[in-house]
This record gives sequence, C-alpha cells and structure tokens, in this order.
Amino acid sequence: MVDITFMRDVIVKQRQFKSQEHWNRKLLAEHQQRMIHSLRGHANAHSPFYQQFHTGLSDAPLDQLPVLTKAQMMEQFDRLVTDRAVHLEDIKRYMENPERSRYFLGRYVINATSGSSGHPAVVLWSRGEWAATMAAAFARTPMPFSLFQKRKMAQIASTTAFHMSAQGGTSARNLLLPTLLLAATEPLESMVRRLNDWQPDVLIVYASMGRIMADEQVAGRLKIAPQTVMVSSEVLTAETRRRIEQAWGPRVFNNYATTEASGLAIECDQHRGMHVMEDLVLVENVDKENQPVPPGVFGDRLLVTPLYKRAQPLIRYVIEDRVRFSSEPCPCGRPFRLIDAIEGRAQEVLAFPKADGGEVRVHPLLFHTLLDLLPVSGWQVVQEADGLHILLARVHDALDGRQIESQVRQALAAQEAVVPPIQVQQVEAIPQTIAGKAPLVKSNLARASH
Ligand SMILES: [Zn+2]
Repeated sequence: MVDITFMRDVIVKQRQFKSQEHWNRKLLAEHQQRMIHSLRGHANAHSPFYQQFHTGLSDAPLDQLPVLTKAQMMEQFDRLVTDRAVHLEDIKRYMENPERSRYFLGRYVINATSGSSGHPAVVLWSRGEWAATMAAAFARTPMPFSLFQKRKMAQIASTTAFHMSAQGGTSARNLLLPTLLLAATEPLESMVRRLNDWQPDVLIVYASMGRIMADEQVAGRLKIAPQTVMVSSEVLTAETRRRIEQAWGPRVFNNYATTEASGLAIECDQHRGMHVMEDLVLVENVDKENQPVPPGVFGDRLLVTPLYKRAQPLIRYVIEDRVRFSSEPCPCGRPFRLIDAIEGRAQEVLAFPKADGGEVRVHPLLFHTLLDLLPVSGWQVVQEADGLHILLARVHDALDGRQIESQVRQALAAQEAVVPPIQVQQVEAIPQTIAGKAPLVKSNLARASH
C-alpha cells in the first residue's frame, strides 16, 4: 500500500539532507546547536524520565549530561517516551499480534534488536522520524539512485519483522522501489537463482553474506552485475572487501547503523572511511570513563544522540562499539568527519583468565588477522564452556586444522591468556542469529559483569 503523505515527506527530506552535504563545519555546528537545544527542550517538557534524569542540568553542555544505557532505556520505557499514550506492554502485544497494522497506534514504526547481545531494545519512530530515516538512507547512499531514477534493489536480511533491515526493505517497497527481499536463512542455491532472475542494480547485504555471495559470483554460479554493494551491520574485514571487489569491482560501500539510532555513518565514493551523518546524529567517541578520545585513537564506546528523534529521545545513548575517527578530512569535501575503522562490537571481545589471576580481554582483530585470509567462505570463533570452537565454512582448499589451532594458541598465549581447548571444525555454513547475522566472534558464556 502506498502512503502518499509519507512518500512526499521522504522526498522533501531527502533533498534537504542532500543539500546539507554542502555545508561547512561552521554551518554544521550551528545546526547541531539548534537541534540539540530543541531536542533537550522537548525531552524536558514531555518526558518524566528526562525531567528527573537531567534535573538541574538544563543549562549544562551536552557532555556534562549523564549517559543513558540500554538497560535504563528499557526499564524506564514508558516514562522516557514523550507520548503518554505509548506503553511498552502494548507494544509487546502489538508485536505478537499477527494481524497488526503497519503503524503502532496508527502513527509509530516499531523496531527491535534481535536480543543476540542481551535483552532486546525496543525502538519507536514517529512516521515523520521514520521518513527522515529512509530519506537519510537514500540521500547518503552513494549511488545514482532516487525515487525518480528507479533502481532494482535486492536485500538479503533478517526475516524478523521488527528488525531494522526488514522494516527498511518493506518501507522501500512501499515507496515503489522495486525490491527483492531475501531471507538470510533461505538456502543458498535458491538465493542465487532468485538473484540471477532479478538482476539487482543495488545489493544490500550483511558482510558475512556479501562474502558468501562474492564467492558464488567468482565460482560462476551467481551472475549479477550490481552497481552498488551496500554492506552493513557487521565488521567488514579487509579480506571480505577484497573478495567483494574481486567479484564486482570497487563498488563496495560500508554502512554503519544501529537499531537505536538508525544510520550513523556511510562510506562515500572516495572510500576513505564512513562519513558520520553529523547533521542527523551526534556521535561522541569516548573511553571507559566516558571521556572523549582524539581522532586516530580507538574509543571504548560511542555515545549517540539522534537529533530528530523526539518520540523516544535518546540523549548520550551508549553503543558498545569500538571505533576510530580519522584525523584527515575527506577529499570529497563533505563536512562530516570520517570513521576509518570499526574494531568490533563490544560483545566480540572475549575474556580469558590470566595465568597469574585476573582476566585478559582479547580483541576480535586477533582472530581477523589469523583467520580472515583462509580459503573459506566464512569463519566464526565461538567461546563455549568447553573451550574455543573455530568454525570454518565451505573450505575450498585443503586446510591444516592443527596448524590453525596452534597459531591461535600461540597468539592467545602471547596475550598471557590461559588458553582453553581449541577445536577447529569444518561446517557447511556458519550458524546465523535470529536476525540472520553471523558475527565473526562470539561468546556463549554467561557475560561477566564488566
Ligand atoms: Zn568523502
């Protein structure tokens, strides 16, 4: 069903966001000040939670405000939202109702995280806010692509109805963009056949799936020629990028989004990193004490403040990702700063006991370095109670499992970890989360409280 008002809203906002790419830093800073002032005013006027949370801080600069965690956001859900008709219990009932309408209460889009990293977050967008989210995706995606120049899209994503990727795909289809939606859980041969039939101009995939599809293309089973390959949601390693470029040329654009704040950053055609959408969301890169870290240095987490999110304001919301800002401006001239590396999501950091007590935290990069160049279509490291399981999918050439095991053992020992039993297993496919993702590193141990 086509929603004309929504569509018009997306078109207007898309033009506006496009024009904002020509701002300088000064115009951008003024815009941010205005938006943050207005957002805080709205939150203080309409959210009982923020009235309390920010008591006595109404004149304090943003970086003096307390940070907001997912647990706080979910516990205080009904008090945090700015519409007193919205209740979390009703949203849960709505999500479980197979005959639900497109919009909750006739006016809200609901997204939810899959809960693979703890309790799911429920995120609420007014129709206007959701239009802005879609408009941002269209305006910032570097492709010859608009509502007027129709391009055929294919998206391989979550089948979970409330996952952001599924909601985005459905909205695109409602905006009359020809979109083939494939579930990441569909058998590979069937996906390849349907993509061959569809011949997309734009392919949107998770990084792990992009790598599998690139391998299919190189093997000659998949025969498509997308102009743009958008990769999102997972860490895009150098090897996965290389394989996608081998399959389709240098048309890979990395996209960094979170369910809570939607799009955060996206790569431009200079491929120097991902431009933070600073006119739409404030992103602070901070250390463990929530103090800012300079460009060129990895932070421990991000604090995000989506500037146009009013129904459920998120002010200094904690995203547990480790990213690095570039210290160089981009030659494309956009005023937005670049994120030039994402080291991993915090849940990808594994903790091991140390020989002399305490624990050592091992970054996913250690495993990327050791495993990413193997001739496999996918890999995953899973920490279980009985040790470390290294899964290798669809091995092309002969692999020496013992050699891999010993390399991982040495690398962990070099970090002073007590190395658990390591098992290398060859599998048909890497198991996916309910959202269709395949994180490179994960722990199935109960999370310690760090
Ligand atoms: Zn650029």
